[in-house]
Amino acid sequence: MTETYDFAAIETKWQRAWEGERAFRAVPDPSRPKFYLLEMYPYPSGRIHMGHVRNYSIGDVIARQRRMAGATVLHPIGWDALGMPAENAAIKHGTHPRTWTLDNVAHMRTQLKRLGISYDWDREVNTCLPDYYRWNQWIFLRMLERGLAYRKDSWVNWCPQCRTVLANEQVVGGGCWRCETPVTQKKMEQWFLKITDYAEELLSGHAALQKWPEHVLQMQKNWIGRSTGAHVRFGLDGSSKTIEVFTTRIDTICGATFLVVSAEHPIVPDLVAGPKARELGAWVDRTVAEMRKRRDVGETEKDGVDTGRKAVNPFTGERIPIWIANYVLMDYGTGAIMGVPAHDSRDFEFAKGYGIPIRTVIAPPDRAGERFDAEPAGVFEEPGILVNSGPFDGLASGKAMDEMGKYAEDKGFGRRSTIFRLRDWGISRQRYWGTPIPVIYCGRCGTVGVPDADLPVELPFDVKLTGEEGSPLERLESFVRTTCPRCGGPARRETDTMDTFVDSSWYFFRYCSPRETGLPFRAEDAKAWLPVDLYIGGVEHAILHLIYSRFFTKVLRDFGLTDISEPFPHYLAQGMVTKDGSAMSKSKGNIVDPDEIFARYGADALRVFILFASPPDKEFAWAEEGLEGCYRFLVRVWALVTENLDLFAAPAGEAASPSAAGDAAARVVKKTHQTIRKVTEDISVRFHLNTAVSSIMELYNLARRERDGLRETPAGRQALRLALETIVRLLSPFAPHMAEELWEKTGHSGLLMLSAWPAYDASLAREEMATIVVQVNGKVRDRFEAVPDAAEAELEAAALALPKIQAALGGRPPRKVISVRNKLVSIVS
Ligand SMILES: [Zn+2]
Ligand SMILES: [Zn+2]
Repeated sequence: MTETYDFAAIETKWQRAWEGERAFRAVPDPSRPKFYLLEMYPYPSGRIHMGHVRNYSIGDVIARQRRMAGATVLHPIGWDALGMPAENAAIKHGTHPRTWTLDNVAHMRTQLKRLGISYDWDREVNTCLPDYYRWNQWIFLRMLERGLAYRKDSWVNWCPQCRTVLANEQVVGGGCWRCETPVTQKKMEQWFLKITDYAEELLSGHAALQKWPEHVLQMQKNWIGRSTGAHVRFGLDGSSKTIEVFTTRIDTICGATFLVVSAEHPIVPDLVAGPKARELGAWVDRTVAEMRKRRDVGETEKDGVDTGRKAVNPFTGERIPIWIANYVLMDYGTGAIMGVPAHDSRDFEFAKGYGIPIRTVIAPPDRAGERFDAEPAGVFEEPGILVNSGPFDGLASGKAMDEMGKYAEDKGFGRRSTIFRLRDWGISRQRYWGTPIPVIYCGRCGTVGVPDADLPVELPFDVKLTGEEGSPLERLESFVRTTCPRCGGPARRETDTMDTFVDSSWYFFRYCSPRETGLPFRAEDAKAWLPVDLYIGGVEHAILHLIYSRFFTKVLRDFGLTDISEPFPHYLAQGMVTKDGSAMSKSKGNIVDPDEIFARYGADALRVFILFASPPDKEFAWAEEGLEGCYRFLVRVWALVTENLDLFAAPAGEAASPSAAGDAAARVVKKTHQTIRKVTEDISVRFHLNTAVSSIMELYNLARRERDGLRETPAGRQALRLALETIVRLLSPFAPHMAEELWEKTGHSGLLMLSAWPAYDASLAREEMATIVVQVNGKVRDRFEAVPDAAEAELEAAALALPKIQAALGGRPPRKVISVRNKLVSIVS
């Protein structure tokens, strides 16, 4: 008799059971391998979305499988709970950010439990609570003591919509990363973290990140932007001043026909002071204003003015014109460049536009003997052989860079050097809902860090959020007014709060000691769990979060709190969730609400579907039919097991051995072992969770097809029982609730999720090779062995590579090839 699959009752029942037994608790156990599985924690916006469901379901399958396979698993969750949306919601709806956030957390916690994710809820962290953010403050103070946190007046990116400063990393294509409003520039006193001290190590550390997607490493490399080259000082004609340039191509320096300084360069006032001062000054003011509005120089039209002043090339003594232009930025390199139009396309374009001479100094290697007196028609950017370069003529570019760098050093006008594109991380935000920066300004003592004993500096609750410019804290006298911890005199508190990316830069440490009160975390806890064995999350964090976390880990290491240098040796970038061809989003109106799916199909069906439909790192396209299909699969498994419960009533006999059992029984036993092996490797080695599910489906199909025959013999009944029990066990990470229920129904006591992962017999699990026949024009010409179910394209390639087949084709490409899986490749010549 078939029982109904009542997913709602089953899921509630097992969620209670897991919670009651605290089955997901992470307990350090040196006798077992540890596995720290981390998914990027969510921002508590109100409800979980399908991107979350996917991210956490992927992680959960791997965590559950590892636990069953014998590891002690840490699988934590928390809330990235500070930040602007809460404040904006507060302004809009008149709620307090804290109330809004904690309500959202409560709802989302319920949703995650409803999804059956195996989190250790005892370790939940919430970054908006003082017991978390006090440690942001503590870490900041240690950085302040070491000069890693500092304050300076600087031009910063300003989002007029969010009314706050943005880090360079948070400006995407000239717009705000959150609201896409074009970013403007504003001069402000700001707190910075000195990430540039770690630039070199952030790059060299990539060597330990072999298990990261290559494109993510590349994005970080580009962001860090290491360039080796030389600094060279050009003289300012008629003055004792010099202008320093940075170049990666000192070998081309004798071809410099002009110099360009940024409109923001401090030497500009000197350059424009002359007969044309008024005209030049106006141009500079206009250009600076333009540049500050848009930092995206790649897109601006190159514009410049000749100052009439000359620079002296220290290599040649030649006097060349100095230009001011809008395409040279003050904050990269030195804010001045040499223009070598023959060997740099940007300089070429500029020189052509303004009629500046162009002189070849690098010859293509195959034309090294020729003369290069005439102006070249185009630009040559490759390395080559030096010409028109005096004593350096005839040298190859690489050698010349070395020798010319040395020459500059010997003569004292330059040095070989390395620069980075990476800038220090500006963390000041003029908003309320963030960690207060723990600093006090005293008229007598200056800038004073808040003493550890006075931490946390708590966010005051009674604040007026109006949306006006400037920090709401600034207007709260009771917060601002304080006494100096050093001299006891009247003083003012810093009112900027920290960028919320500070919170997420170390939260994975906090999970190791979530209730620790003396330190951010205990060194021995960090040692027991870290590094994170697998980190899963969206690739949109490739630059911001994943660089900041690496930076913080190195800083905490240098504080002596941890001995790891890289927090995430293995990062799995999960693909997007789309529907109707675009990413699910509120603005597109193509959101599917998880709560609705829980009610209609249950959490297990949703999990199986989201894991089955595509591999974790690929895009996942939502399709209701697919969900429907996965739900029906679960119903069929449920039916097949519950219809055969009598098999489990008898004590388990010897598992049928293939020789003793009939044909069908032997095949089912073999397939069972092969499936265990496939699913084990798919989950733990390849993360091919989609093919793991399809293997379980195949085993189910075989068992279902052979059921009636198998039930007729003792060996058959044993085989069927083994297959069904294995299906239940293998399904446990994917559809954990239904699997627990069937485990109980088949007479087992204790939680399935805490039982051992099924083992396979290697000799039984071995895949047989398929013999593929190769025909040419209908005649059998050869045979070869292939793994079962090899793709058609693979079979085709293997067949065409066979010597006998090549001979039969006589060197001509085939006109047509047809492949049949596991059987045949037929070629028409
Ligand atoms: Zn914005
Ligand atoms: Zn003082």
